[in-house]
Amino acid sequence: MVDAADRLAGVAATIAQAAKRAHRHAGDIDLIAVSKTHGADAIRPLIAAGQRHFGENRVQEAAAKWPDLRTEADGITLHLIGQLQSNKADEAVALFDAIHSVDRPSLVQALAKACEKAGKQPLLFVQVNVGDEEQKGGCAVADLPALLAAADAAHLKIEGLMAIPPADVEPAPYFALLDELAERHGLPLRSMGMSGDYETAVMLGATHVRVGTALFGTRS
Ligand SMILES: *Cc1c(COP(=O)(O)O)cnc(C)c1O
Repeated sequence: MVDAADRLAGVAATIAQAAKRAHRHAGDIDLIAVSKTHGADAIRPLIAAGQRHFGENRVQEAAAKWPDLRTEADGITLHLIGQLQSNKADEAVALFDAIHSVDRPSLVQALAKACEKAGKQPLLFVQVNVGDEEQKGGCAVADLPALLAAADAAHLKIEGLMAIPPADVEPAPYFALLDELAERHGLPLRSMGMSGDYETAVMLGATHVRVGTALFGTRS
């Protein structure tokens, strides 16, 4: 039985190795532990082991779990990595320190309003549909310049790009594309890489990797 602290150490070591091979600093890569579907009992051991960045994909689930958990340790940073409905923008801005799923003009407008009302702005990433997949969330690659311009006009600061590459194909070209798009638009952050491919993502410039299964085990 491998415990949470061992899993965390293993993932951290893999990130450090990949960073070294790419001549990057491991400290420039934030490991987000994706705790969706997992309860407080599964999350606490990771907090105890020093993990501070956590990711959730649903506002409702995060609102039920995190206000209590947050009080148990200093410095917890909560990331929204799933799609966000515009009518939940206020709640998302109140709850999350980072939102990785900005993907359409209506959401940009809703977030701009919510941030102004709240007097704060989470760290924001635009999610890009790098595989141009029909069913997938994220802004089309071709629509990215217009979406960034809309955010700019709404005084919403976008710091990076996020992507989920198509399943079951080599992800490296998609990570490289996201890195190139971020570079082209002068954005410093890249949220890419999950349990199966975070090592590759780190070598291709990820600043945030989103790892669930490798830390928590399989989701039921
Ligand atoms: C669930 C999820 C992850 C984590 O996936 P694992 O394969 O369990 O590491 C990462 N990113 C997003 C957007 C997710 O929804």
